[in-house]
Amino acid sequence: MKKRKFKPRLCACRCGQLTREGFFIEGHDAMLYTAILNNVGGLVALRDLVEDKLGRQIKMEAGKKPPENADNRTLAKNH
Ligand SMILES: [Zn+2]
Repeated sequence: MKKRKFKPRLCACRCGQLTREGFFIEGHDAMLYTAILNNVGGLVALRDLVEDKLGRQIKMEAGKKPPENADNRTLAKNH
C-alpha cells in the first residue's frame, strides 16, 4: 500500500471520531451498513427504497461472481 499523507477527517458513520484515512474508522462502515439494514428492515427493503428514490431498478451485473474482498470479510465479522 502506498503511503499517504496523514489526513484525518470525521468518520462518515457520524460517531464523531477522526479517521486515519478514508471515510470510515475500521469496521465503522460495516456498523453503518448493519444499522441501515436494521432501520430499513433488511437488504430487500433497502433495495426497494433506493430503487424508489432512483426511479429505476438496480440491476446486478450478469455473470459476475460475488466479490471476495476485504469489505466482505469486514461485514461478516460484524454480523
Ligand atoms: Zn465511526
